[in-house]
Amino acid sequence: MALIENIIKKIMDNGVITSKEQLSKSVYKIEIQSEAARTLDFVPGCFIRLGVGIGQEASSKKDMVRSYSIWGIDKDKNTFSIAIATHSNGIGAQWAKDCMVGDTIYYKTKRGKFTVDNTADSYLMIGDLSALSHLYIISRYLSKDKHIESIIYNENITELYADIDNEKPFNFYSIEENNLKEIISKIDNVIPHLKGVNMAYIAGDSRICIAINNYLRKELKWETKQIKTKPFWNPDKKGLE
Ligand SMILES: Cc1cc2nc3c(=O)[nH]c(=O)nc-3n(C[C@H](O)[C@H](O)[C@H](O)COP(=O)(O)OP(=O)(O)OC[C@H]3O[C@@H](n4cnc5c(N)ncnc54)[C@H](O)[C@@H]3O)c2cc1C
Repeated sequence: MALIENIIKKIMDNGVITSKEQLSKSVYKIEIQSEAARTLDFVPGCFIRLGVGIGQEASSKKDMVRSYSIWGIDKDKNTFSIAIATHSNGIGAQWAKDCMVGDTIYYKTKRGKFTVDNTADSYLMIGDLSALSHLYIISRYLSKDKHIESIIYNENITELYADIDNEKPFNFYSIEENNLKEIISKIDNVIPHLKGVNMAYIAGDSRICIAINNYLRKELKWETKQIKTKPFWNPDKKGLE
């Protein structure tokens, strides 16, 4: 693993953890200071591939890196923040629990397509605890005239945390993992409030991403371009990209 670690360290940017805060029973906010943040071509919805398995003897290559969304960025201070949910209990969750202020981290920024898009009039945000920071930053960068409906869920509602500016713009629900029926009933309740051109952002549990995408397209006749989905995790896999 030493060779892979050395390659990761060479090709990735580095930074230092400047603060760590436990936001709720299972979520940690981690702020990172990094020279690379200043010149980062930042788009809301960017994420980092973070080296979480570096320095751990038993790590396999698959357990070296995990993805985390950039929740907030301050280019003047060269800092950005991420929020890590630890329900998975995998290497990423363990890293979040163990990391300390002053630790050096290695990461690479990625953009993808799950980024802010201001072309619609109304937005539907659906996601679980792992996706909350990503949906928060998208919503903060939508222009103020947009109408936003949201279904943010977790079995234990108290684990759902406020946005980085302490605002709580989303509706939180206590819904257990993969309860599609409950989420669809919430969607049916909010659909009448959406006006003009609609767009949905769906992230988190891959089973919910797929099922809601199908529901919007097949039952509610939304077009593919109106739906943005990003599976963050899958019960049968480790560390989705
Ligand atoms: C683009 C992108 C952005 C992401 N952004 C964030 C983010 O900002 N914050 C964040 O917390 N995560 C985010 N994730 C998910 C994150 O990358 C990891 O998948 C997650 O932290 C689990 O890693 P792990 O090593 O702890 O567990 P793994 O070893 O990957 O998985 C262990 C087990 O836990 C299950 N599992 C994984 N996640 C969950 C979950 N949330 N609830 C229940 N079971 C789970 C897996 O299916 C697996 O069975 C993102 C993923 C992607 C693809």
